[in-house]
Amino acid sequence: MKSLVLCVAVVLSPLLALSQSYDLVIQGGRVIDPETGLDAVRNVGISQSRIKKISAEPLEGKRVIAARGLVVAPGFIDLHQHWLELESQRVKALDGVTTALEMEIGKPDVAAFLQSMEGHSLINYGTTASHPAARSLAFGTPVPQGSLLPKSGTAAAEKPPSPEQIEAMKARLRHELDAGALGVGMGIQYTPGVTHWEVIEMFRLAAERSLPVYTHIRSNGKIEPGSNIESVSEVIGAAAITGASLHIVHINSSCGAQALDCLGLIAGARARGLAVTVEAYPYEAAMTFINSARFNPGWQEKSGATYHDLMLPETGERLTKERFEELHNSSEPRAVVLFSNTMENVDPVFRNPLVMVASDGEKGHPRNAGTFCRILARYVRSQGTITLMDAIRKMSFMPAQVLARSTPSARLKGRLQEGADADVVIFDPQTVTDRATYQHPMEASAGVEYLLVGGAVLVDKGKLLEGVFPGKAILGR
Ligand SMILES: [Zn+2]
Repeated sequence: MKSLVLCVAVVLSPLLALSQSYDLVIQGGRVIDPETGLDAVRNVGISQSRIKKISAEPLEGKRVIAARGLVVAPGFIDLHQHWLELESQRVKALDGVTTALEMEIGKPDVAAFLQSMEGHSLINYGTTASHPAARSLAFGTPVPQGSLLPKSGTAAAEKPPSPEQIEAMKARLRHELDAGALGVGMGIQYTPGVTHWEVIEMFRLAAERSLPVYTHIRSNGKIEPGSNIESVSEVIGAAAITGASLHIVHINSSCGAQALDCLGLIAGARARGLAVTVEAYPYEAAMTFINSARFNPGWQEKSGATYHDLMLPETGERLTKERFEELHNSSEPRAVVLFSNTMENVDPVFRNPLVMVASDGEKGHPRNAGTFCRILARYVRSQGTITLMDAIRKMSFMPAQVLARSTPSARLKGRLQEGADADVVIFDPQTVTDRATYQHPMEASAGVEYLLVGGAVLVDKGKLLEGVFPGKAILGR
């Protein structure tokens, strides 16, 4: 009897497949998958949050999205996003982002962060465990509410730790990793009291869990000691010594005019078998907190910048020496935009095959809303310096590969393949563009016609839907 049922099932199954109806079908789009190299007109069948079928044959769906003339690609994964509140997520979604993660520094309290996001998130989210927050706790001064970093001049930012304080940091980071963090985040430049030994100890802790370290390197500029070359070498050394994998954030701003030299160091480390990866964002201005140690004495010489290169994003006010002193010494963590780089330095960075795209998104900078569509508009369409396939690779598959160091679930992301998570962006390659500017940083990108997160439609005919919260937590092992 059993075998008969089996026989009937085997005979019927091709027929069943023919008449199968999917929850959603994306019909006739140009389907691009960087891992397999697929670039062809296909139909995509989606059911229960997964891509079930990719076929040149017609598919039936309860809903059909006509995608003729549009590109269908894996949703963009932003490894470096600070501002994760709803207001920010809305513009991220319209920029094609289906997953946004705070990896550079990490949220100060992982459990509280995950709880605050659950059921309220448009897109997928996650965080590293914060070394600056663990350090601040070890010095007895938790980071202030609303900030990620200790203020310049405090012991937590400036002083070397005792052996007991290093142990306290490690205990706190283990606790945060247990709560679901995706690795360890270090903003070394913001805590210049960090000793080389402390860096190695934090990498050791990440290696103990087989998790990566994400880092903003110790310094920028060419002046020795303390150059960007020395700073990249420091963290590559820590990765080599401990076996932890390493992701270096925003090479464009940390290395400026030396970005290609810094990328050469990373290529060398990789050629020696080290797991080192790197990201950049496509803007000339940086942004950070003005009362942070980033602006300790010497910042102008390092950056080649003046007070006038600093701008308050809310008002457009350019700073003077007096205004700078007032804000730098304040305990209020105000954001400031720093115009210290040029697009002549930034553009060639994206042609390097090692560089993936991440926004470093924060309130007040156009990179928050515009990074991903700017890559498509500026480099693929306008300059023609990156192919569409490579741009999509840098924005989906490469970050998914990095994320796979933290969680096996990342192997279902960044791919437009049968069995993958249905995080999908559908955009018009002729019109897609960023629109955010330094004056209007919240202007949403245009040209993303549809966005699916876990199979749920979030952007429909270019409009963000209300009351849909398909975003899920991405947790470490
Ligand atoms: Zn940074």
